[in-house]
Amino acid sequence: MAHAITEPSRQTDVIHECDVLVVGGGPGGLAAALAAARTGVSVALVERFGCLGGNITVVGVEGFAWYRHEKTVEANGIGREFEERARQMGAAVPESQSLSYEIDSEGFKLVADQLVQEAGVHTMMHRLFVAPVMDGDTIRGVIVESKAGREAILAKRVIDATGDADIAYRAGAPTVKTPKEHMQAASVMFHLAGVDKKKFMAGVKADPQTYKDWATGEWKIETSGKEDKMFSPFLKKPFQQALAEGLIPAHLTTIAGTWGAMHDTGELTYMNLVHLAGCDGTDPDSMTHFEMEGRKQAMLAIEALRRFTPGCEGVRLRNFGMAIGIRDTRKIDAAYNMTEQDVREQGRFDDSIGIYPEFIDGYGILILPTTGRYMQIPYRSMLPKGVKNLLVAGRSIGGDRISHAATRNMACCAVAGQGAGIGAALSVKSGTTLDGVSMTSVQAELARQGVRYL
Ligand SMILES: Cc1cc2nc3c(=O)[nH]c(=O)nc-3n(C[C@H](O)[C@H](O)[C@H](O)COP(=O)(O)OP(=O)(O)OC[C@H]3O[C@@H](n4cnc5c(N)ncnc54)[C@H](O)[C@@H]3O)c2cc1C
Repeated sequence: MAHAITEPSRQTDVIHECDVLVVGGGPGGLAAALAAARTGVSVALVERFGCLGGNITVVGVEGFAWYRHEKTVEANGIGREFEERARQMGAAVPESQSLSYEIDSEGFKLVADQLVQEAGVHTMMHRLFVAPVMDGDTIRGVIVESKAGREAILAKRVIDATGDADIAYRAGAPTVKTPKEHMQAASVMFHLAGVDKKKFMAGVKADPQTYKDWATGEWKIETSGKEDKMFSPFLKKPFQQALAEGLIPAHLTTIAGTWGAMHDTGELTYMNLVHLAGCDGTDPDSMTHFEMEGRKQAMLAIEALRRFTPGCEGVRLRNFGMAIGIRDTRKIDAAYNMTEQDVREQGRFDDSIGIYPEFIDGYGILILPTTGRYMQIPYRSMLPKGVKNLLVAGRSIGGDRISHAATRNMACCAVAGQGAGIGAALSVKSGTTLDGVSMTSVQAELARQGVRYL
């Protein structure tokens, strides 16, 4: 840094104290906060935006369990409750390629509000975590910033569910970040209005796409073979046509991907078509550049759909996600780092906090859990090295590249979150450290909360 200033030291008001503090309200953090509260401790949940749900609501990622088929076995627990509650509240529709529900990204804001209110979670939105409160190598709380200025929140245990391991990183725990050129691409997500559903669905039926079609020339896709003939709500041809006709510039060969739900109202949502390589989700300059680039590419994609996709002639942009979608940033170096072998070969652990089906999606691999195969998620993958009183849940748990292609998925983030919430709550109740908490009691509470961990 060529230039720096020294900030004056200051006193900061403590605005709240609790047993368990969760930072980040995505699938991981929301599950953690609910699970801890249901275990009977006081819980606060800090979120930088004005809604909970993380990528579901902030980015518009609606495919919560699109991997689910007849033989899929799962942890159930809070992740399943998200889908079920959304369905009951009219915030989900049947998903097109699986036995699951597509969660409505707007409606889920209300679902999450209701869940935290029922569980008695003290929810603190519009606050950005900016620094840990440390006592040596022990975290005692966090500093947040907001319109109210700088404030402190103290807690007996902290769960980092920021997705980027912001707390672990600032507290000095070792983290690893995929090199920018190998990171999974970021996406600007969008939703459409004005689609003629009948015509669109007739077009899909007339020319059904499969997971094999995901290989675009630009991307390779490794499957286990059984995925190759299965239907996928995939769109590539309109963009190839637009490229051929010069509507999309020749260098832009990465526009393609999946659509989510085709609603009776003419809305086509969760348009996952724009893929932005080289975007670093921990660098605001990089994110600024790619927010703008992504929006530009989305408009090109919409023009191509209008011209070359049946039913999309009158389509218009309904909305972008609130923020660019980031798939891949920091992960902690945990007490146990999950491996490719664990996710490919049904890893088993004594400290399992939940199971997750054999679903791998990322880094050019797509394996769907059409069999009953599954892995267990170990509690230790959430225990960062070097910092006490801290657990990390969600997409930044410890593991190698390929393991993250499984654990990053929202339902798996919810499994980790629920385990972290219970672990933190029981360690407060029993006065033990996070690494010393009894796994027998954690698993008993998981079972009581309806989670399958074996
Ligand atoms: C475009 C895209 C498509 C995807 N498609 C799918 C899919 O179809 N199915 C699937 O299962 N997964 C999908 N994923 C992956 C999945 O969405 C994420 O891996 C998952 O949401 C991670 O959950 P999380 O709880 O760890 O973090 P997030 O969902 O990212 O939530 C983190 C929360 O923390 C908040 N936060 C972050 N930093 C701070 C801070 N400093 N202070 C306060 N709050 C903070 C954020 O605002 C956010 O609400 C997709 C991801 C992207 C980007």
